[in-house]
Order: sequence, then structure tokens, then C-alpha cells
Amino acid sequence: MQNLLDYDHAALTDFFQQRGCKSYRATQVFRRLHRGQNAPDIFADLPKSLHADLLAETHCPPLPVAADNTAADGVRKWLFDTANDRIETVLIPEISRQTLCISSQAGCALACRFCLTGKQGFSRNLSVAEIIGQLRQANAMQERRVTNVVMMGMGEPLLNLEAVLPALRTMTDPHGYALSPKRVTVSTAGVVPAMARLSAETNVALAVSLHAATDSLRDDIMPINRKYPLAMLMKACNHYLQEHPRAFITFEYVMLDNINDSHACARDLIRLLGNMRCKINLIPFNTFADAPYTPSSKKTIFAFRDILMKSNLMTTIRKTRGSDILAACGQLAGEVQARTMGLAAGEVPLTRASS
Ligand code: SAH
Repeated sequence: MQNLLDYDHAALTDFFQQRGCKSYRATQVFRRLHRGQNAPDIFADLPKSLHADLLAETHCPPLPVAADNTAADGVRKWLFDTANDRIETVLIPEISRQTLCISSQAGCALACRFCLTGKQGFSRNLSVAEIIGQLRQANAMQERRVTNVVMMGMGEPLLNLEAVLPALRTMTDPHGYALSPKRVTVSTAGVVPAMARLSAETNVALAVSLHAATDSLRDDIMPINRKYPLAMLMKACNHYLQEHPRAFITFEYVMLDNINDSHACARDLIRLLGNMRCKINLIPFNTFADAPYTPSSKKTIFAFRDILMKSNLMTTIRKTRGSDILAACGQLAGEVQARTMGLAAGEVPLTRASS
């Protein structure tokens, strides 16, 4: 059985051309598929002679919903069944837009110490169908359409580019979800080699989880920094900005009490980012059971922001939403069958890459 949701527009065109159809036929199916229709309706315009084969050989199954909860503030979280794991997707409704936070992996190998997904370990990469399926289903299961996507759910999207890139193409394809690339954000903990590929192949917005502005601190809270230290990361960021002259980068910075929230840390950040076309998003730390950190106080977060703003670094403070149903940043754990714990995954050896 071929899952039609695994194909981006170009791949679906190949698929139908191999069956003797003109390319506009593939476009018709692609449109219907991503406007929420199912078989047999998606094949309605195709030659009748193909129907029986297509119905026998292909499918576009919805992800089974294992749980569906809405927080007091309207944030909604779905737990979807995928093979042996359960992954999470979060819908964040606002007045003028509706953002979907999508998972790219079941679990995560990067073991950032402040992140619950990281604590759970890594199970596997999601398929294209499982990634795009989260968006298709979010549109199907409620009234309003999703207007913005953030690849900020479970997992590290840049360690699953094989599936993430086709999914991004479908999100931005005029016949797919037709989202403007500016409204699709990929967030990375800093997988430097993959950043160049993302930059070359897409126009989506880039967010970088920075969280510390010196290698000694970042090494400690984000082990991936031991492989791709700040100098390499900044070089990759500058390269992205050169290739996308109108874009800026969002740097995420989770505020950890007495760890990265001092005046000196703010000055380190100014030194690191002072000349870059960027925005800083301060994230209040969302805690979880046995978390090794505590959140910075509101006062500290505002003071930190003020220091950055005085140096002309555009800084916002992320509103925490959905925390009563564990739907806030860093609280997504799903139910993954961790095959590897953190860095044992072998994807991020503890040795520094040579630059
Ligand atoms: N792996 C990617 C995608 C995950 S995005 C990345 O690291 O960017 C999830 C965002 O939430 C990241 O910026 C992450 O650093 C942040 N985050 C993780 N744990 C958090 C927590 N406990 N509280 C607040 N933010 C957290």
C-alpha cells in the first residue's frame, strides 16, 4: 500500500505519469487530498479504468487520535498513534492567526537538559505522511484553518530532513496548504551541516534554539554544542542570512534561573548577536517532573529583555500557553519507545566536529 500523503506535488506527479496520466491529474488529486478529501473522492476526475487499481494500491489514512485535550486558554493538544509511538501536536488559536506546532520525530536524540522530550530519548524519524498528516488532521478536526506552522514539536527537524523537506514543500505548495513560507518556521537546536541544505532548498523562516551565548554554558545545557560550537553555528546563521537577504533569524532563549539569566549573560548575547539581522524570543522555562532547573522570575526576564532592547536587539517574551495540559514548549513527551537515550544515539558524538 502506498500512502499518498508521503508524496509531495512533484513525487505525486511522477506517480501518476507512470500510470499514463497527465500532470494536471496529479495536481487535482494533490489538491483534493490536502483540502481534506479522501478516497474515492480524490480520484473523481481520473479515468475510470484507473480507479480499481488506485483504490487497491494506495491509501491516505488519518493518524489515529489517542487523546484530544483543550487547555483553559484554548490551546489544544492531540496525541496521535504512529506505529509503536505516540506523538504530540499542539494547536495555538489566536484572533488573527492559528498556529500548529508539529512534531518531526518520535522522541529526540539531542538531550537538551531543560527539555522533557530530550529526557525521553529517541525512538525514530517520522515519515512525510506522519508529518503532513498532523496538519491535514488539524484542519479536519476543527473549524478554522491553520495559518502558521512551527516545526517546534517533538524532535529535531534538521535530523530528519529527508521527510521534513517534502512536508515543507507540501505546506507551502499553492495546491497543497498554500502557506506563505514566512508563516512556516523550522526550529533547530543547531545541526549545522543541515542548516545549509535547509537554506538552499527552502524559503521558510528559521528559528535557532540558542539558550546560551558562551560555549562553556551551552556545552552544559545543550550537548549538541559540543559537536557544533557557537562559532560554527553563527557561521551557518550568517550564511542563511546571506542567502535570504530579506529574512531574519529568531533566536530562542529559555530563561533558566541563575543559569543563563544574569546581566553578564545578556551582555554575552549582545556580543554574539549584536550585528545580526535577528530577533530574540525569551521563553519562560516550563517545568516538568524532576527538571534540573527552575524558571527565572518575571522581574529577571523583563530586566534581561530591557538590557537587550537597549542594545537595539529586538526582543520579545513568549507567552506561555497550554501548560495545564502539558502542551507548552518543552513539555511534549508523547509516549515513545526510546531505543536510545540522548547522545547514545550516535547521531551527536560528544567530540567536537572540525570546522
Ligand atoms: N529541536 C528543535 C525543535 C524543538 S522546538 C529545537 O531545539 O529548536 C522546542 C522549543 O522549546 C525549543 O526552542 C526548545 O529549546 C524550547 N524548550 C524546550 N524545553 C523547554 C522548556 N522546558 N521550557 C521552555 N522552552 C523549552
